[in-house]
Amino acid sequence: MAGSSDAVSAPVEAIAAAAYTVPTDRPEGDGTLTWDKTTIVVVHASGAGERGLGWTYATPACARLVADVLGDAVTGLEVADVPRALETMVRACRNYGRPGIASCAISAVETALWDLKARVLGVPLASLLGRGRDEVPIYGSGGFTTYDDATTRAQVEKWVGEWSIPRVKIKIGESWGTRVERDLERIRLVRSLVGDDVEVYVDANGGYTRKEAVRVGHCMFEESRVTWFEEPVSSDDLDGLREVRDQVPIDVAAGEYGWDLVYFDRMVAAGSVDCLQIDVTRCGGYLEWQRAASLAGARSLEVSGHCAPNLHAHVGAGVPNLRHLEYFHDHHRIEHMLFDGVLDPKGGALVPDLSRPGNGMALKEADAERYRVA
Ligand SMILES: [Mg+2]
Repeated sequence: MAGSSDAVSAPVEAIAAAAYTVPTDRPEGDGTLTWDKTTIVVVHASGAGERGLGWTYATPACARLVADVLGDAVTGLEVADVPRALETMVRACRNYGRPGIASCAISAVETALWDLKARVLGVPLASLLGRGRDEVPIYGSGGFTTYDDATTRAQVEKWVGEWSIPRVKIKIGESWGTRVERDLERIRLVRSLVGDDVEVYVDANGGYTRKEAVRVGHCMFEESRVTWFEEPVSSDDLDGLREVRDQVPIDVAAGEYGWDLVYFDRMVAAGSVDCLQIDVTRCGGYLEWQRAASLAGARSLEVSGHCAPNLHAHVGAGVPNLRHLEYFHDHHRIEHMLFDGVLDPKGGALVPDLSRPGNGMALKEADAERYRVA
């Protein structure tokens, strides 16, 4: 790897965005939403003869925002100065509102700029951000409410049997918390499939009321030793999350809809979670991800990277209070379909590839073209 420390003072020359919508392999759903396709918005940042790659999982409208606003905001800034680019993008979006589409689009550009800087320097992205560990633990995530038992069984057996991941998570809270008996049956099925030595997690996606979540929490802890209860109630209900956290002997997690530091600060200050989830494709990118992890760390909380595993591995390796990353079925599938150089989940951890500069990945443009929507 040849790199140049002078070259990082070169300007960012261009930002390009494209959106690809990929059908799911079967209908999917959780407690409060169903879907049959997923859109990834891919950003390339060019400068000093290199091209950085970043992305977000969001609406194709993000690609339009990159083209109309964010590209102009960061073009001409030094490749080295990613914090300046982040601040410039946040200011440029003031009148559009940062939460939601804007923050997703900012995240895609920010992660592409860090990758560009690493490639220009000729170093792996994990080395540029700095590593505190070699391996980043993951948990298998999917187990949709739309699955029959055979589909759930096949997925769990792949995670645990084929890939040796010692943690699995399924969706519960089906139909806004109106199918509790089926939720508990599916949890019992998963516990029976994985045996005693694998952690069983659940995600209700805000489908329960507070008291219902407490009742389900006690039941699934006693029956199936569930240790992770994600969004038992809406993640907007900070008091409700804390109430559930206080009343069940299971870790409560939330934070996947965190768009900025203010969001994460409110959540940890309210005592709402045992583990803070942070999504690098929504929060504003790597720098905001590290800052949010620091907020959690100041309160002795761990953090978990939400989805997009091949983006999270590089920043997760450097954060001391990281518990794990979510290895989400849809994103495993899309990242393997669309990118060369993705990381291997076998063994239950991702290991950033130190033999390649940047994030080590490249868009398979010809393969991706058939899914392009913007
Ligand atoms: Mg979730």
